Amino acid sequence: MAINSGTADTSPSKIVVLGTGGTIAGRASSAGDNIGYTAGEVGVAQLLESIGAFQNGALALVAEQVAQVDSKDMDFALWQRLAGRCAHWLAQPEVQGIVITHGTDTLEETAYFLQAVLDPAKPIVLTCAMRPATALVPDGPQNLLDAVTVAATAGAHGVVAVCAGNIHGALDVQKVHSYKVDAFSSGDAGLVGVVEEGRVRLYRPWPGAVDSYKENMPLAQVAPAPAAIKNIVLRGADADGYWPRVEIVLNYAGASGLLVDALVAQGVRGIVAAGTGNGTLHVDLQAALLRAMAAGVRVRRSTRSVFGRVLATPADAIPDAHGLSPVKARIALLLELLAEA
Ligand code: ASP
Repeated sequence: MAINSGTADTSPSKIVVLGTGGTIAGRASSAGDNIGYTAGEVGVAQLLESIGAFQNGALALVAEQVAQVDSKDMDFALWQRLAGRCAHWLAQPEVQGIVITHGTDTLEETAYFLQAVLDPAKPIVLTCAMRPATALVPDGPQNLLDAVTVAATAGAHGVVAVCAGNIHGALDVQKVHSYKVDAFSSGDAGLVGVVEEGRVRLYRPWPGAVDSYKENMPLAQVAPAPAAIKNIVLRGADADGYWPRVEIVLNYAGASGLLVDALVAQGVRGIVAAGTGNGTLHVDLQAALLRAMAAGVRVRRSTRSVFGRVLATPADAIPDAHGLSPVKARIALLLELLAEA
């Protein structure tokens, strides 16, 4: 295996590993400490060294450090930069696929964002860790090795996430545990497949290619993504001026319209309501959301339930979020508004 920093690589085929930080690159002062660490400290080239002896494919690995952040701090500017680097590398014929090392906290959002914007014909595999690189038994090296295996698999495409031997589709993946090493679920949709001893076993087709998958993925229905979004997201211009403000409000016992009214007063462009159960909303919250819609704010209704989706009826006053979780519905709404900008 060759590990390079930068772009110089004469091998005919390669996998590019983009580092963004996260716990997988985290460092603690004691090997027994799995939570008191600083995320985003170890470089991606060094992470690759930990798997060098075990990666037995013919593909060279090229490391590029795109960022070094705790993914709780993920922002639009970094998404824009990351999408730009992915687009750059995907366009190189010698690149077989991309692996992205990422924090677990917002991994599902980045996965959805990249799938919606790039709809890649090659694999983009996000991977992560729940324990820092300095842990007694770190989970990062195996996850990284598995992610490289997935990226190297013939026929793989679309954005997927690999963690704890499981392959999740970008649309379905959700962090469902705050501590366990197997922290992700694909909910009702189930896993795309698993990685076992360096081999991929698929349970269903690669999700990026499946029509029913895309039907539930606003803005990835057309490939490539609408030109307006691509131009804005990939051109690398000042991101902040382009990103409309879209926020999430939650329904709960005693919810009021206070937050919604305040957001509207602040000029919010979109609101995702994370409703209870089948997207139900407290009568006061619903009234505020309807006022917001009347004022021109785009509103979508999702559910705070981890499993299942909002089942819409023709009588619904507030449109549903096409089965997207609240955080993914927010990204879809952002991109929808960007496309109209
Ligand atoms: N806060 C970390 C992050 O998302 C958590 C992790 O990576 O597990 O970057």
